[in-house]
Amino acid sequence: MIQENISLKPYNTFGLDVQAKRFTQVNSLLELRNLIQTYPNEPYFILSGGSNMLLTRDVEQLVIKLNIKGIEVIKEDEDFVWVESQASEVWHDFVQWTLARDYGGLENLSLIPGHVGTTPVQNIGAYGVEIKDTMISCKALHIKTLEIEEFSNAACQFDYRESIFKKEAKDQYIILSVVYKLTKKNHAIHTNYGVINSELESWGITTPTIQDVSRAVIAIRSSKLPNPAELGNSGSFFKNPIVSKELFDLLQKKYPAMPFYSLDENHIKIPAGWLIETSGYKGYRIGDAGVHSKQALVLVNYGHAQGIELKKLAETIQNEIFTIFNIHLEAEVNIF
Ligand SMILES: Cc1cc2nc3c(=O)[nH]c(=O)nc-3n(C[C@H](O)[C@H](O)[C@H](O)COP(=O)(O)OP(=O)(O)OC[C@H]3O[C@@H](n4cnc5c(N)ncnc54)[C@H](O)[C@@H]3O)c2cc1C
Repeated sequence: MIQENISLKPYNTFGLDVQAKRFTQVNSLLELRNLIQTYPNEPYFILSGGSNMLLTRDVEQLVIKLNIKGIEVIKEDEDFVWVESQASEVWHDFVQWTLARDYGGLENLSLIPGHVGTTPVQNIGAYGVEIKDTMISCKALHIKTLEIEEFSNAACQFDYRESIFKKEAKDQYIILSVVYKLTKKNHAIHTNYGVINSELESWGITTPTIQDVSRAVIAIRSSKLPNPAELGNSGSFFKNPIVSKELFDLLQKKYPAMPFYSLDENHIKIPAGWLIETSGYKGYRIGDAGVHSKQALVLVNYGHAQGIELKKLAETIQNEIFTIFNIHLEAEVNIF
């Protein structure tokens, strides 16, 4: 059933009150195929958890809210298990499902909002782990041919918060399910990134299990990231910029305390949050659009901000960072 003039406020974590001219929910592949056959050649707007989008205006396209669920072990051997999850499983619940069965690999990605089907779009990552480390393949429906195509990990062309689904395959596919290869034993424990180690140590844990790592990640994230249910936001608004060694050397002379992470001889990643904080924007607020007071990388909606106001704020910050540091900050959030 197609509904008309539906507010998308409950469906995006910024809590932006824009209208969908036409809105529908699909609960199965069959329903999705039928919908596209009934409304062919339409521009569709695919909506999953709505946690990575800034909606700046009413949506003219037909909004398809995906609700295709199910989790299945499709293969296993002594050491590994291959789990296929349908697109609309809530990511954090899926991670907890794997941990309850002692399957390792996703624990560092606990509490990231959104749905499973979007994880390959963005190559989600946190605390030194990205989805590309465990994702084997995903199935996607080609919107024009209605054929289901399988993308291997390599075919997804993963990069930092990037994939083929944001580039040449953009708007051509709807991801239906994702397969992850997880460990059943000898789990690789990643605790060196960020403050996971110190959190575990404060609990007296020196040889953590994957479940301990997940609990530590949940505790850290809950203490420093605003909960979208309480304060509208979309997580990190900008990507951490990667700059040339040449520019980095110049900046380091001026800002010796600047944190950085060397990617290779010629490329250095700089935390966007530090750039924003140093430029004085942490805690900045104009109307109901603001920069979070604890986490400068997160833009927030204090209540009634409009998407366009948040976009303007983002542009102001981008201009300022460019003027001060000669660095272009790229949005991580999809802006519509
Ligand atoms: C508080 C907070 C913390 C966050 N922390 C992190 C973090 O640590 N690391 C990280 O990587 N991200 C983080 N994010 C961003 C976000 O959670 C992820 O990008 C998430 O994967 C988005 O999923 P979603 O289902 O909400 O996507 P949506 O916002 O619904 O969609 C995002 C994009 O993908 C498209 N899309 C949606 N579903 C499909 C589909 N099935 N097939 C094809 N295209 C589709 C949409 O059209 C849109 O362009 C955070 C967000 C918030 C609010």
